Amino acid sequence: MKVAVFSTKTYDRQFLSAANSPIQHELVFFEPRLNRDTAILAAGFPAVCVFVHDQVDAPTLKILASGGTRLIVLRCAGFNNVDLTAAAELGITVVRVPAYSPYGVAEHAVGLILSLNRKIHRAYNRVREGNFSLEGLLGFNLYGRTVGIIGTGKIGLILGNIMKGFGCNILAYDVYHNPELEALGGSYVELGEIFAKSDIISLHCPLTPETHHLIGSDAIAQMKPGMMIINTSRGALINTQAVIEGLKSGQIGYLGVDVYEQESELFFEDLSDEIIQDDVFQHLTTFPNVLITGHQAFFTADALRNIADTTLANMTDFEQARPCANEIRAQPQP
Ligand code: NAD
Repeated sequence: MKVAVFSTKTYDRQFLSAANSPIQHELVFFEPRLNRDTAILAAGFPAVCVFVHDQVDAPTLKILASGGTRLIVLRCAGFNNVDLTAAAELGITVVRVPAYSPYGVAEHAVGLILSLNRKIHRAYNRVREGNFSLEGLLGFNLYGRTVGIIGTGKIGLILGNIMKGFGCNILAYDVYHNPELEALGGSYVELGEIFAKSDIISLHCPLTPETHHLIGSDAIAQMKPGMMIINTSRGALINTQAVIEGLKSGQIGYLGVDVYEQESELFFEDLSDEIIQDDVFQHLTTFPNVLITGHQAFFTADALRNIADTTLANMTDFEQARPCANEIRAQPQP
């Protein structure tokens, strides 16, 4: 099948081409992101392969449909960038990679926790400059601390397991209870109790209308002073301005984020020679107790191999008219 691959980076080309060599779909790699201006590039392609920042909204889907596209293949798990209702109306099937690196993402969250707590990011710079002072590097033991996990699906559960290994108490909130989380000694509580009792809160739920700005000024006011927030899920789970106020007052003691609400303007590109116009993001980078990575939690070789294998298998299922377990559909409105 002829597939237009958007937002191509060297690593996408490398891993998708390797996985495709025994299958021989016709992959055509495009560097631009998919949006209503670039959708014309996919004219004549029955399938289009996209990543997290491609804009698969209704106008883009209409252009794709008129060019003959019948399949959108997400090479990621989250699908908040796709208008599933419009896709269904246009007869376009949407498939994704539901799990490719739950361990990688959970391990990255732990990396953020350890770096922020023990200030490894600051120590790295100091030692390189011959500054061996310990002033300002004071940390705390993770043992005995309470970790609140919001969203206990694949990634949240793995994080629970790892933090249990450190000797932490695990509190959890999810719309569904995961018996595996309870089996490892975690307790499901209401969100208010997570906010009030957690020393570290880590977000692992999807971005939906219900979870948008889940961490805002009301939530922050309920938190333990000096606590840590970790977000490796989606940027808009956090109201960034409210978090900045929380950091300034000291209510939030540490912030570790791999995702950012307006990240599509920044992440995955080398902007080191440009003037970044996003004042909110720039403000965040000035705090010594904030650690930001650019949506790299998933980025392990294991994950890229899994993404490529599942992405190609999804294409083959569609081409051969087989039911695909990874198809996603718009939820009926209540
Ligand atoms: P998952 O579907 O296995 O788990 C998500 C959990 O969130 C589910 O248990 C679900 O019941 C729960 N949930 C849904 N709505 C909720 C709500 N309103 N409140 C609380 N919980 C709710 O997903 P996963 O594989 O664990 O991934 C979690 C998130 O991580 C994804 O949504 C994605 O946005 C993000 N992610 C980020 C990266 C990265 O590189 N930073 C990579 C992969 C996934």
